[in-house]
Amino acid sequence: MWQSIFGKSQEDEKMDSPNLQLDPFLFEQVDKASHIVALTGAGISAESGIPTFRGEEGLWKIMRPEELANFDAFMENPDRVSEWYEHRREIIDNVEPNPGHKALASMQEEFDYVTIITQNVDGLHQRAGSENVIELHGNIYRNYCVDCKKRYDYNNLRPSEGAPICDECGGYIRPDVVWFGESLPMAAVNEAEQHAASADVMFSIGTSGVVYPAAGLPRMAKSHDAYLVEINPEHTDISLIADETIRMKSGIALPELLNQYHSWKYS
Ligand SMILES: [Zn+2]
Repeated sequence: MWQSIFGKSQEDEKMDSPNLQLDPFLFEQVDKASHIVALTGAGISAESGIPTFRGEEGLWKIMRPEELANFDAFMENPDRVSEWYEHRREIIDNVEPNPGHKALASMQEEFDYVTIITQNVDGLHQRAGSENVIELHGNIYRNYCVDCKKRYDYNNLRPSEGAPICDECGGYIRPDVVWFGESLPMAAVNEAEQHAASADVMFSIGTSGVVYPAAGLPRMAKSHDAYLVEINPEHTDISLIADETIRMKSGIALPELLNQYHSWKYS
């Protein structure tokens, strides 16, 4: 019923030029860094074919995401909101981590201390093999009861027609994602800020740089003397403060960055 959205993933692949010549200064920074932080946003998920809220088609186009992704909307019509999340999970189940996700996972293996902070809720970093991913906006596969807060893994939820119901207390079970009007999980935010403040190199990848507090992390890193590298096909507010900007999709830029780094280091 929703297949129409699956075909859009590789849309403007041809726009990406593989002719990326990186400055050896960047490799020096990466090489001597004892802590590298990557902040990722919707852009890296979009490269895997996950539409942003705005890009939705079909049934959901008639509703604004704000009308679905908030607590009142859920309590008013839990079945509808649950169905929307089921639809979003279905999309995610049908896509794969892209070379950008995989390059970050390789970096975690290769370098001592690489932290990933993400605004995405899709778990694609983990599927690419990353560990220690700080999720600022939650994870769509985790759920909890709105009443007793009992936690449910998506796989433990009994399939249901409408909103799933808590087996302890009969309350509605909601996805563990940050909805409009809700605050971000404090523990994740604090952890992210600590990492940003101690980063030697920070990559800001596919994030618009306008949604706080995530948007504050590159600024915080920069003010603590991190070397700030933006990877984004679009100009953003982060571009203004970045030491270096790579105007490409992460799936092209990150593997290429690793390749060139290896050539620089081992030749
Ligand atoms: Zn409950």
